[in-house]
Amino acid sequence: MALTKTQKRHADEYLLRFMHGLERRNPGQPEFQQAVHEVARDIVPFLEDKQAYKHAHILDRMTEPDRTIVFRVCWVDDDNHVRVNRGTRVQFNNAIGPYKGGLRFHKSVNVSILKFLGFEQVLKNSLTTLPMGGAKGGANFNPHGKSDGEVMRFCQAFMSELFRHIGPYTDIPAGDIGVGPREVSYLFGQYKRLKNQFTGTLTGKGLAFGGSLIRTEATGYGNVYFAREMLGTRGEEIKGKSCVVSGSGNVAQYTAQKLIQLGGKVLTLSDSGGFIHDEKGIDEEKLSWIIDLKNNKRGRIHEYVDKWGGAFHEGARPWSVPCDLAFPCATQNELGEEEAKTLAANGCMLVSEGANMPSSLGAINVFLDNKMLFGPAKAANAGGVAVSGLEQTQNAMRLSWTREEVDDNLLDIMKKIHTACVEHGTDGEFINYVRGANVAGFIKVADAMLAYGVL
Ligand code: NAP
Repeated sequence: MALTKTQKRHADEYLLRFMHGLERRNPGQPEFQQAVHEVARDIVPFLEDKQAYKHAHILDRMTEPDRTIVFRVCWVDDDNHVRVNRGTRVQFNNAIGPYKGGLRFHKSVNVSILKFLGFEQVLKNSLTTLPMGGAKGGANFNPHGKSDGEVMRFCQAFMSELFRHIGPYTDIPAGDIGVGPREVSYLFGQYKRLKNQFTGTLTGKGLAFGGSLIRTEATGYGNVYFAREMLGTRGEEIKGKSCVVSGSGNVAQYTAQKLIQLGGKVLTLSDSGGFIHDEKGIDEEKLSWIIDLKNNKRGRIHEYVDKWGGAFHEGARPWSVPCDLAFPCATQNELGEEEAKTLAANGCMLVSEGANMPSSLGAINVFLDNKMLFGPAKAANAGGVAVSGLEQTQNAMRLSWTREEVDDNLLDIMKKIHTACVEHGTDGEFINYVRGANVAGFIKVADAMLAYGVL
């Protein structure tokens, strides 16, 4: 419903007051403030004529985590030195299901980043249509350069505390940056040992012990399925489009793979050292080599150029490469306002976020002002957690679905998310997927919270 002038002014004033209060209560947490701001600027005007949500202070309650657990993680490295890291789990909101969200091991991890990720996870999980609350956790542990033994000892020490706070009906962690199949296996093994129970309490598990087919590919594949739906609204398709992808981890690998399968031309991939640009396109064979380099040899993306040619741009990000479609799949705030302007000026028609909050607020404004197709993370990358939800279902039923069954479910969920975004984000001819995802994700959680009374 369009707001009157008075309602709009009232909403603008309320947004300012709300953000002031949030910043005061959460000092030194820029990522969390940014994530809430991106949501609040859609939700506050939406609430203007929704007295029940307003009176119950749902937005204030939804931006305060249920709890944050912080703990010491001690382990011994290969040189027999004692190391100390900090582990954290932010259990953000369990209004619509048990807490669910990944674990991140990266030197940059802090409570601001985990709160931003946990808050986004609440809305994302709501969008999937599955009964999952939102959480996020991790540690300021850098797996780069660590031996398998060191990673195992760290994971076991981390789980020695976390196990008290999680469970199949309480909180189900998964992977994220720095937590792939190797780490999930060590974490699940330790959880199983400490609890003496075999439950589906982590997702992203190996296929031999309760993992789901397609979970590895799900975030990337889902990202491309969502992009395909967005393109469909303009009668376009992926075939023949040039694509710029950032990152070379899990999400980037399978975003690139699905793009190639659907006839897209992938020009770039990156890591924290810089990006590679292959004008001939990264095909299936080259991508398999990259997946092996990154997942097994734990190498660097610049090694690609020695093997396959193309150019390596040290310390740079790929957004200056002209393309039709862009897929930021590395990390938060990796695409700024100026880079967004460059993408728009080069004729890019679509940006679909594989990573969480890769685009700054300024960049998002550029995409919306230019009426580009912009798929925000909480919608576009929800495929990963959706298949995690399907992994839980399979564990509870004690059976495994085929690849085709899981992939069909994933596609169906991504289409439903797209439909929900269109329903709540259509503005005349233009679909504002940011508002659509924010409002659709919010309503389900808000209704559950209202039903519980004041908690
Ligand atoms: P990953 O496998 O660990 O890969 C992360 C990639 O991002 C690596 O290529 C890494 O390069 C790069 N990267 C990390 N920090 C960077 C920085 N500061 N600057 C440039 N590049 C950087 O992680 P992932 O699972 O693909 O996750 C990527 C993003 O997707 C994250 O935002 C994550 O929250 C989001 N996400 C993941 C999933 C999932 O299912 N995995 C689901 C939803 C959302 P280096 O190797 O040099 O560090």
